[in-house]
Amino acid sequence: MVPDIAQLKEKYSALPIDALLREFLERYNERIALASSLGAEDQVLTDLVLKLKPTARIFILDTGRLPQETYLTMEATMEKYQFKYEVYCPNNSQLEQLQREYGPNLFYKSIEHRKLCCQVRKLEPLQRVLKTVDVWITGLRREQAVTRTDIEIIEWDETNQLLKLNPLADWTTEQVWQYIKANQVPYNKLHDLNYPSIGCAPCTRAIQSGEHERAGRWWWEAPEHKECGLHRRRTAETRKEVI
Ligand code: SF4
Repeated sequence: MVPDIAQLKEKYSALPIDALLREFLERYNERIALASSLGAEDQVLTDLVLKLKPTARIFILDTGRLPQETYLTMEATMEKYQFKYEVYCPNNSQLEQLQREYGPNLFYKSIEHRKLCCQVRKLEPLQRVLKTVDVWITGLRREQAVTRTDIEIIEWDETNQLLKLNPLADWTTEQVWQYIKANQVPYNKLHDLNYPSIGCAPCTRAIQSGEHERAGRWWWEAPEHKECGLHRRRTAETRKEVI
């Protein structure tokens, strides 16, 4: 059943971020999880969530193509907070089929090939984990991309039929980094090398001065295509569905 989103927004959207997270963690208990890519925003949320609830569920989609720096961030975070991530990997037979059919670097051939890779390495594992929750928490921010300008703190995820909590929706990049520094949160060292947004190694590059922060993701594609399908939505600007 679709919850009363307007009522939830009215009740919770204006709360300070820790109070908002506490309410949802208590209310949904084992049926809420943070989706972490180990990027700066997700590290902020990891710190907040684990301080409120050390046993909170935090999951990672290990695509098998993540940069080594991301795995080092994962280890540093586990060490600091003394917890274990829920790690989800691609389905073995689907991945073998993908590799046999298209080779290891299919994502550069076309948008369709890239989406196929994201489907096998990210979306199928995501769909498995989302079956176990009623709410997922994300680090999405409106500032991040043209595909994210209409993100709300509390919204209904039509694709996955779940509540989506985006506590950082209106945070700026500066706020994210202020929090990381003030709280000594472990972060991916690629951020220091001009990688504001980090995904799989072959699909992420550093950005140049003046480029948008997601310019280094699938840099060979147009900005309105720069989503992998995890956060499928209709954009305010184009009203076209992005996948
Ligand atoms: S980001 Fe690139 S390597 Fe990672 S799943 Fe998508 S296409 Fe594949």
